[in-house]
Amino acid sequence: MAQLAKLDDIVALCKRRGFIFQSSEIYGGLASCYDYGPLGVELKRNVREAWWKAVVKMRDDVVGLDCSILMHPLVWKASGHADKFADLVTVCKKCNTRSRVDHLADHHGHAEEHTEHVDIDKAAATPHDLSRKVCPACGAVGQFGAPMAFRLMFETQMGANVEDTMTLFLRPETAQGIFVNFRNVLDTTRVKIPFGIAQIGKSFRNEVTTKAFIFRTREFEQAELEFFCAPGTDDEWYEHWKAERFRWYTDLGIRKENLRFREHDPDELAHYAKACVDVEYRFPFGQGDWQELEGIANRTDYDLRQHQRGMRTVNDWMAAGRDLTAIGLKEEAEDYLSGPLSYFDEQTRQRFIPYVIEPSAGVDRSTLAFLVDAYDEEEVRGEVRNVLRFHPALAPVKVAIFPLVKKDGMPETARALYDDLKRRYASFYDEKGAIGRRYRRQDEAGTPYCVTVDGQTKEDGTVTMRDRDSMEQIRVPLDQVRTWLSEKLDV
Ligand code: ATP
Repeated sequence: MAQLAKLDDIVALCKRRGFIFQSSEIYGGLASCYDYGPLGVELKRNVREAWWKAVVKMRDDVVGLDCSILMHPLVWKASGHADKFADLVTVCKKCNTRSRVDHLADHHGHAEEHTEHVDIDKAAATPHDLSRKVCPACGAVGQFGAPMAFRLMFETQMGANVEDTMTLFLRPETAQGIFVNFRNVLDTTRVKIPFGIAQIGKSFRNEVTTKAFIFRTREFEQAELEFFCAPGTDDEWYEHWKAERFRWYTDLGIRKENLRFREHDPDELAHYAKACVDVEYRFPFGQGDWQELEGIANRTDYDLRQHQRGMRTVNDWMAAGRDLTAIGLKEEAEDYLSGPLSYFDEQTRQRFIPYVIEPSAGVDRSTLAFLVDAYDEEEVRGEVRNVLRFHPALAPVKVAIFPLVKKDGMPETARALYDDLKRRYASFYDEKGAIGRRYRRQDEAGTPYCVTVDGQTKEDGTVTMRDRDSMEQIRVPLDQVRTWLSEKLDV
């Protein structure tokens, strides 16, 4: 154990057992898009549920939201995405492959890495020495064209009539839906600062570099929290959410040695951010690569201020023929504190624009981390056993029920138990094949417990309960199976 699993083994298992498939596979596949199969959909749903439980349900100070993916174009002007959400790219003159400048490495494997997104207008003016950089596709050294900005947002058209057709963007993050609903939530609930709004949903980015399975895809799911607090209390809340989010991963079984924080250097921070830290996981790419799993940022009052300015710009945008590029945001009026996105604290009698702490996680990326961390191979009696040691909360199937053989009333008893258990737990019934093989299939699916109805069941009313991790088998009275499982699974 503790050996870093190989990505290839995980990809193979995911395909073999129906966790994850390439999108549109029968047509040759669609690059960097993936489909979750019967086991994968349950796993990902459990990851989502575990996040929602920890961030929303178990707290008194966070509420949920589910916003539409298509939003008003001005949202992206105000957030900065329309002008800045681009990667700096270069094209290899030898093989024509486009690469992210910050991902290019020299012969020693040194890459710049962790560069922020670039300003679309100013990108070309930034000097970059690519003379020693190696093309990841063909290996040519220093054969790159001038760097340029590559917009990451997908565009689409909305409207049936020519006069109201608009160019919209598929959202590249879920966070903006939260900011634009800040006032709605404030007006319709009892929340008071400090409080958070959480959302889980799909985001889209036309990523330049993909690969690495579901680590970086063009369509993905995010779980984001915007936690609004009074200026001056932000450092404390930043630390609070750092600790909470780290604990979430370890509580769900990720080994501490595979998880770390990487605090951003001041020169790496976006201009509006006061602090930012990545929760990194040691993914099995290359030699075991520390890669971002989640970002936690102190975004100050930047987002709400920007939307307050954006709201004042609507008429200019209409006058400019709804052309985003032709308008700038209205300068902040002196009286911005009276705007609808400000907050009045009744206790302190002060009005302010709230600061925001944002933990932003990827559902697919954490699903991959949970898969990698749970994956294990061990030798049992001369055979390799593949097992996914998922935390019970994440396991796609919690319990499998088998009759030892298809006779002597065993299937009937097993089915009755299955019908009872499935109302409470994701359960699976299987009566085909040798019992050892049935156990192995469940090990590969990560099922924590298997229950077998056998010859002894008729005699003394007990069944065999088999533990996935230790492979130990004990006998449990049939009528106590449910209670026994609830002690183990309701964690
Ligand atoms: P990266 O540096 O890897 O491109 P980012 O810093 O742009 O990521 P954020 O904008 O902070 O990412 O997004 C928050 C989280 O959303 C990330 O930590 C990651 O878990 C997830 N995420 C972002 N982009 C993708 C993607 N293309 N595929 C899968 N998950 C993603």
